[in-house]
Amino acid sequence: MDWKNLERELIALRRDFHKYPESAWTEFRASAIIASRLGELGYKLSLGFDNIDVQSVMGRPDEAEIDRQIERSKAQLPKTCADGAGLIDKMRRYPGVVGILDSGKKGPVISLRFDIDCVDVNETDKSEHRPNKEGFASVNACLDHSCGHDAHAAIGLGLATALMERKDELRGEIRLIFQPGEEGCRGAYAMTQKGVVDGSDYFLSMHIGTGVPSGSFGLNSHGHLCTTKFDAVFTGRAAHAAGAPQEGKNALLAAATAAISLHAIAPHSDGPMRVNVGTLHAGTGRNVIADHAVMKAETRGENQKIADYVYKRACEVISGAAAIYETEVKITKEGSGTSADGDVALAEKVGAVLRASGLFSSVLNDVPAAGSEDATWMMRRVQEQGGQALYMALGSDITAPHHNGAFDLDESAMINGVRALDAIVGELSKSEGKS
Ligand SMILES: [Zn+2]
Ligand SMILES: [Zn+2]
Repeated sequence: MDWKNLERELIALRRDFHKYPESAWTEFRASAIIASRLGELGYKLSLGFDNIDVQSVMGRPDEAEIDRQIERSKAQLPKTCADGAGLIDKMRRYPGVVGILDSGKKGPVISLRFDIDCVDVNETDKSEHRPNKEGFASVNACLDHSCGHDAHAAIGLGLATALMERKDELRGEIRLIFQPGEEGCRGAYAMTQKGVVDGSDYFLSMHIGTGVPSGSFGLNSHGHLCTTKFDAVFTGRAAHAAGAPQEGKNALLAAATAAISLHAIAPHSDGPMRVNVGTLHAGTGRNVIADHAVMKAETRGENQKIADYVYKRACEVISGAAAIYETEVKITKEGSGTSADGDVALAEKVGAVLRASGLFSSVLNDVPAAGSEDATWMMRRVQEQGGQALYMALGSDITAPHHNGAFDLDESAMINGVRALDAIVGELSKSEGKS
């Protein structure tokens, strides 16, 4: 493999994805580029809708917004992706791609997941920020690859290239899963429910950065918090604020009462939990009793039991606050992630491969997870079926915290990420597999 050449390709790909970021459930351009490339390489493709259990979809924009986003994605396709618009049509309004390499030889099923969505945040306009300096800053307003999923998408395609080049050495089946909607934990559950990881002997996912410095690799990221993302929509009745306030039902006060009271949910003695009300929009005019309020909030817990406790209490608090003001409230789940522990036996096997590879100056056994992650649904499914799973951290120095508009990563980490995954898949492919 010409790794130097592949590294140039990775950087170009990452910068292209960075310039045209797409938010959860609208990653049509990225999916088209990924599918086009995987198809050229000889992967069997499963596109968009075919990978999604529609009943399990959370936090997807409405159909009119999907129409607008498909139009933009098509307009922003590079000329080199001539089949892109046709591929987007074949996705049937849901982004995401699974590429399958069937070696034709008996062996294990190895699934790898790469998330491809951006964060809803404005990229900084500071001139020292490299994407500004070198001309690949986001051109889409309030969208920025500030979590590093642009690098994940590039690494996934780099791995696809490397594996296909040595296809004859591989056994079993390799599935490269390019998942939409990781931010807000929206996409993985619907893919898991559709069965994209079913039958896997091994499942691997990896995040760049997350506090691990360049040159290091974390084998087993622990402690992803279980989380539920939800919207609460309060509906009251508008009335003249002075002429007939008694006729009104105040949705603004109901939502404000809920926001304060949510932060008073009692902690749980079993472990940490979190509550956050991220946005609250209410009312229509100064002299009108507000008849409408929308709250976007989330709850988290160290394990599923604590997470279930805090979410249940949150629903009770919101319903109670709505009742005080005689308003109606509707709560909808917009995302969810569970917890999952990586398999120590798999971490040991992967650790031996990476230590022998000399790719990293330090290979750490355990690293703390940063926040929540919906790949945990895939990990859990594979483990329930008797397979092994691991969530790893690819070290990269970063210029600002994840999700901050000044975030940038160390692009030289990407090629070592590809080489690491290539070596790991090569080794796992030699094993028998459970079936
Ligand atoms: Zn993120
Ligand atoms: Zn991320």
